[in-house]
Amino acid sequence: MAMESMWINAPAKINIGLDVVGKREDGYHEVKMIMQSIRLFDRLTLTRKKDPGVRLTTNLKFLPTDDNNLIVKSAKMLMKEFNLEGGLNINLEKRIPVAAGMAGGSTDAASTMIAINQMYELGLSNSQLMKRAVKIGADIPYCIMKGTALAEGIGEKLSTIPKLPNCTILIVKPKIHVSTREVYAGLTLDENTVHPDIDLMVEDMKKKDITSLCSHIGNILESVTIPMYPEIAEIKDFMMKNGAKGSLMSGSGPTVFGIYTDKDAAVKAKEAALKQFEKSFAFVTDLYR
Ligand code: ATP
Repeated sequence: MAMESMWINAPAKINIGLDVVGKREDGYHEVKMIMQSIRLFDRLTLTRKKDPGVRLTTNLKFLPTDDNNLIVKSAKMLMKEFNLEGGLNINLEKRIPVAAGMAGGSTDAASTMIAINQMYELGLSNSQLMKRAVKIGADIPYCIMKGTALAEGIGEKLSTIPKLPNCTILIVKPKIHVSTREVYAGLTLDENTVHPDIDLMVEDMKKKDITSLCSHIGNILESVTIPMYPEIAEIKDFMMKNGAKGSLMSGSGPTVFGIYTDKDAAVKAKEAALKQFEKSFAFVTDLYR
């Protein structure tokens, strides 16, 4: 029998590497990114209701709960296409920092689609879900796939790459709001632009060489976000002085992550970061494979 209710965890992602290789005529940027899911989750609970429509509730009062929320958008898309009877109550327990460069909204949308596919027994494969997901957001197909991946195109062209060796990740997000659009608009691409070498990072991952990988990680958007918010560079320095093998800004920021091979060092650094960077969010976690 079809399910009445279910919950699902939606993992955040970090970018081990992020390059922008060009700009398309329609204004979208072409990217080359290494995506990695981590064990920091939003929790979604979906329950069927008799009357039509999608009603979203959440613990974060400032989040939109109408069609501007990617959860509502993606749920409505599937409910309309498959003419699903009745409606849905969805509760979002938000734990992934918002507008942080960790694809929080995209992973919620991905999990909504996965859950509806199961609850209503739509029988869609992951690739069929991903084809629909890209209409709502370029990062959502990856959030359906999860794990370690190379994302190209506008982020929707995905390929599997070797997994990162086990490591601990420290997340520190300063209390800064960054607009993804503004960061991309501020990026200059010309012959002087220094690009991170994503292929080299993939080679390091193939060899399972964390030390070499950490010396090559790079995010081209740091060149835009860091001059706007120098605190990001301070957090990176802080992590490198506090046991990280490597440290980088994720997405368009402001989240910074550190790669640790020693979990105790990561936990210590987290406590120290919370003292040093006022009102920041800090979290120690593992990779989600
Ligand atoms: P990305 O890494 O893809 O750039 P992000 O982490 O920077 O994403 P999000 O947290 O996904 O940014 O959300 C940015 C904005 O999107 C928020 O300010 C919010 O208004 C809107 N939004 C829509 N749906 C959601 C959702 N389910 N969770 C969080 N924000 C959402």
